[in-house]
Amino acid sequence: MDFSKFFAGELDSLRDGGNYRFFADLERQAGSFPTATRHRENGERQDVTVWCSNDYLGMGQNPSVLAAMKDAIDKCGAGAGGTRNISGTNHYHVMLERELADLHGKESALIFSSGYVSNWAALGTLAARIPGCIVYSDAMNHASMIEGIRHSRAEKRLFRHNDPADLDRLMSADPVDRPKLVAFESVYSMDGDIAPIAELCDVAEKHGAMTYLDEVHAVGMYGPRGGGIAEREGLMDRLTVIEGTLGKAFGVMGGYIAGDAVVCDFVRSFSSGFIFTTALPPAIAAGATASIRHLKQSSAERARHQNRVARVRRMLDRSGIPHLDNPSHIVPVIVGHAAKCKWISDLLLDSYGIYVQPINYPTVPKGTERLRITPTPYHSDADIDHLVHALHGLWSQCALARAVA
Ligand SMILES: *Cc1c(COP(=O)(O)O)cnc(C)c1O
Repeated sequence: MDFSKFFAGELDSLRDGGNYRFFADLERQAGSFPTATRHRENGERQDVTVWCSNDYLGMGQNPSVLAAMKDAIDKCGAGAGGTRNISGTNHYHVMLERELADLHGKESALIFSSGYVSNWAALGTLAARIPGCIVYSDAMNHASMIEGIRHSRAEKRLFRHNDPADLDRLMSADPVDRPKLVAFESVYSMDGDIAPIAELCDVAEKHGAMTYLDEVHAVGMYGPRGGGIAEREGLMDRLTVIEGTLGKAFGVMGGYIAGDAVVCDFVRSFSSGFIFTTALPPAIAAGATASIRHLKQSSAERARHQNRVARVRRMLDRSGIPHLDNPSHIVPVIVGHAAKCKWISDLLLDSYGIYVQPINYPTVPKGTERLRITPTPYHSDADIDHLVHALHGLWSQCALARAVA
């Protein structure tokens, strides 16, 4: 086989469909987030305002986080030096796991290399090792959950997105004595909608099922201590497992699950994706711990964040730029056309110094291609005006429909 020709051909078909991914080469600027320096292909540098970061609260530049990371490097060095099992468990990991358990009101927590790995490993392990387990998975679940469930080889049922009645219908059709696990998210990252957690828990309880909630887009950002939507709604104790990331609002890296001691110990003991990999660097754990502690006692970032989100929506409305209405911090501006979406994104970057990555199929369904705007506490009024002004102009150039005022 001519491998090179095969690879090139596959990439060409991605390009033809408008689905080839281009990465912006950025140098983030600590202290002036959301500004970054873009390294262009011609060697030029350009200052850009990032409008699509998942560092939702700017914690990636928070002084207490940076100080904790520097301090941990000075004390412990660069890497963990091993897997958790063989010399790699650092005291910073232990402290981070305690902090996370406390955040979610659970007995225990377990950290992983990333949120992706935590979903893949935890769901993969639970669903594979609970004999006869059936997994009920929301139709819009993240790739990491889907892959974990697939890896488990457990039977899987897809329930309609955020639909407790459909979940109930599916669960009622299965034998009462089969163990069941319901997996869903709180904030869905592409539409920004929020799950009816209480109603889904009602259905799960009715059928004696475990619940597994991905709060990746909510931890740090919702609830009085940043415990997520389940904390805000007083539901944390109804979830068997809460999963989160340290890489989005907490601004660092890593993933975790929180739950009863016995569930966390079970995953710790049986999960290949936890056991056979080098532990996170101590400095990462120290930074994440500092970030969680900060957001537990400070709501200033959350308040300012919501204020900025509301302002972006208001200004878009005034300009007639259509965006999906939702109860979260994610502002999806629908373009509905792959090539135009990419074109607008390119022009925003090259001509206006605004970086919003286009989101096309297969991340979102065809015809709903979008610019997913994520305001942060550090976007100024002037930044927002500039963004909306630029979109206003491009909308006309691109002959795109406007929302009816
Ligand atoms: C980003 C994301 C993850 C993965 O988290 P990482 O820490 O980035 O690996 C998991 N679930 C959802 C819903 C996500 O959006």
